[in-house]
Amino acid sequence: MDKSKASISSCLLSDARIVLPGSVTDRISLLVEDGRITRIFEPSTAQQAKAQVRIDLDGLTLFPGFIDVHIHGAGGVDTMEASADGLHQVARFLAENGVTSWLPTLVPAPEEDYRRAARAIRQLMREQEGRPAAARVLGLHYEGPFINSAQCGALRPVHFRIFHEAADIDALAVVEEKGAARMITVAPEIEGGIELVRELHGRGWIVSIGHTRAGVDALDRACEAGARHMTHFMNAMSPLHHRTPGPIGWGLINDAITCDVIADGVHVDPLILKLVLRSKTPARIALISDAVAPTGLGDGEYRIWGETVNVFQGRTQNSRGSIAGSVITMRDAVRMMLSLDVPAEDVARMASINPARLLGINQEYGSIEIGKRADLVALDGEGNVRLTLIGGRVAFENQL
Ligand SMILES: [Zn+2]
Repeated sequence: MDKSKASISSCLLSDARIVLPGSVTDRISLLVEDGRITRIFEPSTAQQAKAQVRIDLDGLTLFPGFIDVHIHGAGGVDTMEASADGLHQVARFLAENGVTSWLPTLVPAPEEDYRRAARAIRQLMREQEGRPAAARVLGLHYEGPFINSAQCGALRPVHFRIFHEAADIDALAVVEEKGAARMITVAPEIEGGIELVRELHGRGWIVSIGHTRAGVDALDRACEAGARHMTHFMNAMSPLHHRTPGPIGWGLINDAITCDVIADGVHVDPLILKLVLRSKTPARIALISDAVAPTGLGDGEYRIWGETVNVFQGRTQNSRGSIAGSVITMRDAVRMMLSLDVPAEDVARMASINPARLLGINQEYGSIEIGKRADLVALDGEGNVRLTLIGGRVAFENQL
């Protein structure tokens, strides 16, 4: 395919199997103009469409672009240390894997590290339209620091905090760009936790419950205070016990709560993924990668967050024996869900529209509908990415 298509203003994607909201339709075509989806054609009418460029997808499956709200890096770049250029490198890698938007995710660290990370994120958000097409940064996600040290996972408890007063939130560096998403993972049982949830929610943060051992009472109060989502459901939470439901029992049964899961088959056994699917339904699950910097680099020994982490056959482990994030991308999570016989339209809900809803941007992002941004990914039968379009720009193509 001609690289000059990167700057085209209209493009017809023809003969695709398109994953629409709630259904999959074969052999239809889609017109993209000025970065938006403007028409969806039956095969017989697509010939009339006028477009600068036509791309024949020859039966490939076209999904809405994947949105990853929890990712720490890839290709050797860590979001805590990256410059805007480094973040853009991650964004390029993500585009190759079908991700069209993401939230760089920060781990508990000293304030100056938070500030540096937020500065780089802000710089990339300002520049990204002018750079080569890559997965769009939508804001940031703080994983902690207001979380429970008894469920720290691979995070460093020395940087965890408790909540006393509003100034404790002001200490978190944010991205001041208009519309920038602010998500934060909080354990409501820490000192001041419920007030913290209320204050964050009141300031427009998306509050997610995670790294927690909270009981049902604290969880109910956190929900009432504005927390409606749970971070990497089942991981870094006290385990389910039939007499002590805790976060997992509460999350499974509570329809007001959505959750995200790391569907790498390592963090949560595929059988338990099926349990989560049955209980929460695809309407209330978002897929995340929780990927760390070594993602894409293969097996080996790496330094992450001041520790040595081993990556072996798709599994990470630090010196304390904890899993230290994943080395998958959203594409792998999508393939895992498809392998569990989840219908493509339900997988698209979990990979695209539900994360968009969580961030409150589903009017613009997350599904293949007229008027929405042309963030699209074409997969072949093996789940390989063959084309990624971001805002109508070609961010990646492979053998088209
Ligand atoms: Zn994480």
